[in-house]
Amino acid sequence: MSYEKPSWANEDHLAIQETAHKFFAAEMSPNMDRWRKAGIVDRSFWRKAGETGLIGASVPEEFGGIGGPMSFDAMIMLEHGRTGDSGWGVYIQNIVIHYILAYGSEKQKKNWLPKLISGEMIGAIAMTEPGAGSDLQGIRTQAVKQGNHYVLNGSKTFISNGQNADLICVVAKTDNSKAAHGISLIMLETGGAEGFRRGRNLEKLGQKAADTSELFFDDVIVPLDHLLGESEGQGFAQLMTQLPWERLLCGIYAVGACDLALRETLTYVSERKAFGRRIMDLQNTRFKLAECKTILEVTRTFIDRCIEKIDCDELDAATASMAKYWGSEMHCKVMDECLQLFGGYGYMLEYPIAHLYADARVQRIYGGTSEIMKELIARSLEVP
Ligand SMILES: Cc1cc2nc3c(=O)[nH]c(=O)nc-3n(C[C@H](O)[C@H](O)[C@H](O)COP(=O)(O)OP(=O)(O)OC[C@H]3O[C@@H](n4cnc5c(N)ncnc54)[C@H](O)[C@@H]3O)c2cc1C
Repeated sequence: MSYEKPSWANEDHLAIQETAHKFFAAEMSPNMDRWRKAGIVDRSFWRKAGETGLIGASVPEEFGGIGGPMSFDAMIMLEHGRTGDSGWGVYIQNIVIHYILAYGSEKQKKNWLPKLISGEMIGAIAMTEPGAGSDLQGIRTQAVKQGNHYVLNGSKTFISNGQNADLICVVAKTDNSKAAHGISLIMLETGGAEGFRRGRNLEKLGQKAADTSELFFDDVIVPLDHLLGESEGQGFAQLMTQLPWERLLCGIYAVGACDLALRETLTYVSERKAFGRRIMDLQNTRFKLAECKTILEVTRTFIDRCIEKIDCDELDAATASMAKYWGSEMHCKVMDECLQLFGGYGYMLEYPIAHLYADARVQRIYGGTSEIMKELIARSLEVP
């Protein structure tokens, strides 16, 4: 089954889509089970994906990208969502890349972007701590200036790409006397960083191949020029400015994964029989699938609109929060309805729908919970 061309796609997007589709079929699908068991995606896969041009396609050529619009990356992410994989942390990689592109010095961009885009380096973004998630201003990790370096102390948890990461964008306090204005983004190169330690690769309900981890910083020395931005205290504003992209990525993943779920479910119900008829021929099945298809197409239309907006740099925080909130809630709803139509087989991990269901659940939590998204959307409401 081929998918309809997105409203924003031109010939270049379609060429990227075909490349991504072939690459994932050859290099991702055969490895997914093994990655889930290992709890991590092979580093060699990252390199191959980078060589194929599937990381940071929207970055200018001088830094190693293809120089396309953001929708180049959106196309790759959409196609990735349709594979059923949830382990490859390229979403995070794309977020880190755009932090560096937006706020990095020329030296930082030249040092890190080509390596992130080639897959030689794997990135992570470390905001969440055991005691602070939604309430980011409550973080306790500190970066204290001493001579010509920072000394980093603290711990983070739930960090995607945590085991593999070579470059971590650490959200840290550089001034305890200030709230949001006391937060900075410090880039830590993990290779040889004394006092840096990776904790457990956390066991999760779903997204089993993702190396979501604890990280510890114990007097870690970081050069002063690894601060992102021209001065300290800009971290919170930098995060808020970049979050629309992160939130839209969650919506894109939702559409891709629901495309796959619907396809798998249609195949199953057209083969499985009960009471002498195909499950597909039962009115309940037809109605449920009609509901799911409608939800998916309405969601797709909105996400497409957001992709068009981000290409024109017009995606505001509230609209991106709607994409994240609506996309992830609908993602979970569609997975639940589809799984039900598989009966007992839907609960068995040998069927992709079981993984899709488990993988979806965290969409309402990470990247800002649904409740926080509603807060942000509500703040944009104005009394007429
Ligand atoms: C698989 C996975 C991957 C992740 N990857 C990363 C990563 O790469 N980097 C990173 O930094 N973090 C990551 N996270 C962390 C994630 O972003 C946080 O878990 C999330 O932001 C919620 O924070 P919390 O877990 O501390 O929950 P809490 O903030 O403690 O929230 C608990 C509950 O209270 C609700 N709540 C909190 N505040 C409000 C409010 N003001 N109004 C209404 N309800 C509220 C929440 O919605 C939630 O239901 C990941 C998490 C998971 C599970």
